[in-house]
Amino acid sequence: MDITDIKNKIIEKDRDEKEFVQAVDEVLTSIAPVFDKHPEYLKMNILERITEPERVIIFRVPWVKDDGEVVVNRGFRVEFNSAIGPYKGGLRFHPSVNLSVVKFLGFEQIFKNALTGLPMGGGKGGSDFDPHGKSDGEIMRFCQSFMSELYRHIGPFRDVPAGDIGVGAREIGFLYGQYKKLVNESSWVLTGKGLSYGGSLVRKEATGYGLLYFVRAMLLDHKDSLEGKTAVISGSGNVAIYAAEKAMALGVKVLAMSDSNGYIYDPKGIDLDLVKKIKEVDRKRIKEYIDVHGDAEYHEGAKGIWQIKCDIALPCATQNELDEEDAKILCQNGVKVVAEGANMPCTHKAQRVFLDNGILYGPAKAANAGGVAVSGLEMSQNSLRLSWTFEEVDERLKEIMDDIYRTCADTAIEYGAKDDLVVGSNIAGFLKVAEAMMAQGIV
Ligand code: NDP
Repeated sequence: MDITDIKNKIIEKDRDEKEFVQAVDEVLTSIAPVFDKHPEYLKMNILERITEPERVIIFRVPWVKDDGEVVVNRGFRVEFNSAIGPYKGGLRFHPSVNLSVVKFLGFEQIFKNALTGLPMGGGKGGSDFDPHGKSDGEIMRFCQSFMSELYRHIGPFRDVPAGDIGVGAREIGFLYGQYKKLVNESSWVLTGKGLSYGGSLVRKEATGYGLLYFVRAMLLDHKDSLEGKTAVISGSGNVAIYAAEKAMALGVKVLAMSDSNGYIYDPKGIDLDLVKKIKEVDRKRIKEYIDVHGDAEYHEGAKGIWQIKCDIALPCATQNELDEEDAKILCQNGVKVVAEGANMPCTHKAQRVFLDNGILYGPAKAANAGGVAVSGLEMSQNSLRLSWTFEEVDERLKEIMDDIYRTCADTAIEYGAKDDLVVGSNIAGFLKVAEAMMAQGIV
């Protein structure tokens, strides 16, 4: 069988899993040139092995609302690949979570983690639970019920979950408290923990800061810089807020941000302290921004954000939030860089538009790897029983993001696809994992 037959066989098997098929299709298409140099990977059927999770756990999560109603959600953990280290990847709590979404995220995570240079395998999990509008008590009871099953599958040398959409510091705290109670061990199994119980400085900021370090490296390699540029950032969660913070610190004017209801446009530059207060402290909707800044605009519908003219577009909300039409508008408006803070935010066709128009395009598994990289550093600090300073962790994050950029750019050149970081990141991540799988035999 050649690579196309193998890809079709894999896609056919999981054809109902839309997001997973999309992710597999992208990776397998772009790594095709690898097999001319490494026919042994085809012989050992690495492709079918790497696209099949090592383990999928699906479980019931019953919990009680404040008014006494008993609710049942579905929990997932996909332990995708442990060739280079313990499974590592976030937990997502959002109504859209299903097996396809968790498998796509887990699959992407394998290659992203490999790119960081740290020994972490790929996994992902979550639930179709919606944290919006729930009381702290409800969130705690849900997290405790979720962990009452998950705890038996995870461990510091087995599987180390973190946060993702809908899972921030509050949820990690409740999850970790329940884990510790059940196993009677302080083994720091989650990352993104609070600083008072084993967390790392810079973890909260890491994905957003890392994204900007990556964009800086892309621009620098093309004799350009961030200074004086404008940016549009979708989302107003963990990734978006800290991408905006670092963008502003590096001389970029951020014009717009969004949530799932709509977007704000402030030509004077976004007031980030206000966004943090609305989203992180009050947990409210972004439209409240115009109550304070009456001269800014609020528009219903998150997608309109891509019509704003900008130099840099950073999709930091969710998968498939930027399609072909949006990509064409961004190009017409002169966008120079698009880098993905979210996972798979650009559709296949949007990606093609950017690459065909010579836009600098940073794919998620490279551009947003800063979060998991600092999670890896949190694990290192936990093992050492030490805490590093903000500056030390931030410095390592910068080095890791610069290295990821260099590795992806050099790999793209080596495989005849200069500046195509989709090819560069997929091949570089794949080669590391494939080599480890080859060394470990058929397991
Ligand atoms: P958060 O839950 O903190 O924030 C998510 C943001 O995206 C919110 O503003 C949310 O709006 C918005 N959003 C969610 N769903 C949609 C939707 N369907 N349409 C429009 N907007 C939406 O999550 P994170 O910031 O942690 O994660 C954002 C993305 O970054 C995800 O793709 C995640 O996988 C990825 N990522 C996260 C990492 C991390 O360290 N946290 C690491 C690497 C990648 P609302 O408030 O209305 O729900």
